[in-house]
Amino acid sequence: MASFTLQGIPVSRGIAIGRAHLLRPAALDVQHYLVAQEQVEAEVRRLQDAITQVHKELQAIWSDLPQDAPTELGAFLDVHALILSDPMISEAPLDIIRNRHYNAEWALVTQIDVLSAQFDEIEDDYLRERKADIQQVAERVLKVLTGSAHSLPRAEGIDERSANMIVVARDISPADMMQFRDAAFNGFVTDEGGQNSHTAIVSRSLGIPAVVGTGNASRLIEQDDWLIIDSDAGVVIVAPSPLVLEQYRELQARLLKARKKLLKLKKTPAVTLDGVEITLLANIELPDHAIAAVEAGASGVGLFRSEFLFMGRTGHAHKLPTEEEQFTAYRAAVQAMKGRPVTIRTLDVGADKPLDTTDHNILNPALGLRAIRYCLAEPQIFMTQLRAMLRASAFGPVHILIPMMAHAFEIDQSLAMIEQAKAELKAENKKFDADIHVGAMIEVPAAALTLPLFVKKLDFLSVGTNDLIQYTLAIDRADHEVAHLYNDIHPAILQLLHMTVTAAEKAGIPVAICGGMAGDRRLTRLLIGMGFRELSMPAALLPEIKQEILNTNLENLQPHIKKILRSYDPQIIQDVVASLASVA
Ligand code: PEP
Ligand code: MG
Repeated sequence: MASFTLQGIPVSRGIAIGRAHLLRPAALDVQHYLVAQEQVEAEVRRLQDAITQVHKELQAIWSDLPQDAPTELGAFLDVHALILSDPMISEAPLDIIRNRHYNAEWALVTQIDVLSAQFDEIEDDYLRERKADIQQVAERVLKVLTGSAHSLPRAEGIDERSANMIVVARDISPADMMQFRDAAFNGFVTDEGGQNSHTAIVSRSLGIPAVVGTGNASRLIEQDDWLIIDSDAGVVIVAPSPLVLEQYRELQARLLKARKKLLKLKKTPAVTLDGVEITLLANIELPDHAIAAVEAGASGVGLFRSEFLFMGRTGHAHKLPTEEEQFTAYRAAVQAMKGRPVTIRTLDVGADKPLDTTDHNILNPALGLRAIRYCLAEPQIFMTQLRAMLRASAFGPVHILIPMMAHAFEIDQSLAMIEQAKAELKAENKKFDADIHVGAMIEVPAAALTLPLFVKKLDFLSVGTNDLIQYTLAIDRADHEVAHLYNDIHPAILQLLHMTVTAAEKAGIPVAICGGMAGDRRLTRLLIGMGFRELSMPAALLPEIKQEILNTNLENLQPHIKKILRSYDPQIIQDVVASLASVA
């Protein structure tokens, strides 16, 4: 097969090399995992038993056919029985289980994909149409085998190195992405998505190389194709030549070595050459991500996206996590951070993070009942969460962060709800930090334009640049068709950032950046030069941001920063921002 290259949007760092695992809609309900060596023969028998079962089913349908059934029906059943007995179905998948350790369902789907591709090549229309019969037979076998909802391969008791697979899909939901934590993948490629879609964010958090927004990767890439993801360049190389493969393996090894070296900076404080300390914090999606945050040397958690506890709960007894469940999760993060502050954001659902239980606004979800709007409309859900957060604050420093605020009444109502939660807990003799800090995300332009209101009522601010850019430039952050308009150094964004840091400084309250800009080392000098002193990012990116800070002299940046903030010309801004890298 000839090699070809696909261009997409880079969303995380590093290189991944592996075989394509296509998540086709038809295969979405099928479990995919690798079976351990000693389980292989049992897995083979499971598939054989399922095939025998389907034979029996076909026979039963045959004998129950009514007298007046059309004759074609019997003929179809015969064809299906023949297909089922054909070694291509009854034996080839067994070899896949034995050789690749795929589970039965996955082995069958893989073989069906191969057969389907062969049928597509056939000239004869009639024969080509038989592909549908094969798929129907496979569906029958799958139905006997399945009954579970997992759609991503998992590595159970398998050496990670053997699991060099890359997921290729039209799109992957953020909830499904969470399964990557214990899945057998080392990269993913999607047709849809933008640089700061939530799926991209999760891949960055997990440090998984990924390219999104390729447009048509899932149609061009075939099951089991060899792929190289160069996620820094946003490129996917399909069926690379041995020479290219070798070059990338070398590059991959060099990058890994450089990353390991950076981790030696773990205990070094992030201080500029002229002595200004910058606080580097981690963004986490689940409590156990806090371990990686500590490993990377984070001074705390700057953003715990609590909504990930609420998503992907199909099959749970409770549709939403109970107070106890949430309390346990928040406490786990607080305890893992060992006295470092944990900023927990209240539920930010909606747009590309829908709950299983809600119909999201299909008209314009990004402008719909999201985040604090949803919480104030569902006070029970909000109160449960606030109580759980407050209870966790008895175990270490917790800050409450409220997303997407734009109106004074949203601040007032949120603060009133927090007071009510405190009063309830006090009456129940439950412990909490009475002076817990409460802050707001600055991610709607209206908030950045009414900062005096925010700084008067709140203890801290955190800028969500992902949404601030989305709402200021009016581009859906998950839509690859407008991804080229996503510009984090658009003068409008820089002005809003400048206003925010200046207002917070004047009011004497801390302000962090927790959106994607904070983890982009090309922007580190710009942001700290503008006055930001707290940056929160995926743990995997923290060491390289720290290195950038250690090499920066803030004083010397100032004339350049002034020039950037005075300009409204995108080319001048771009050039001066790029030139910051060479300021000594
Ligand atoms: C942001 O909008 O920048 C942010 C940090 O929040 P999220 O990406 O979860 O919307
Ligand atoms: Mg946001």
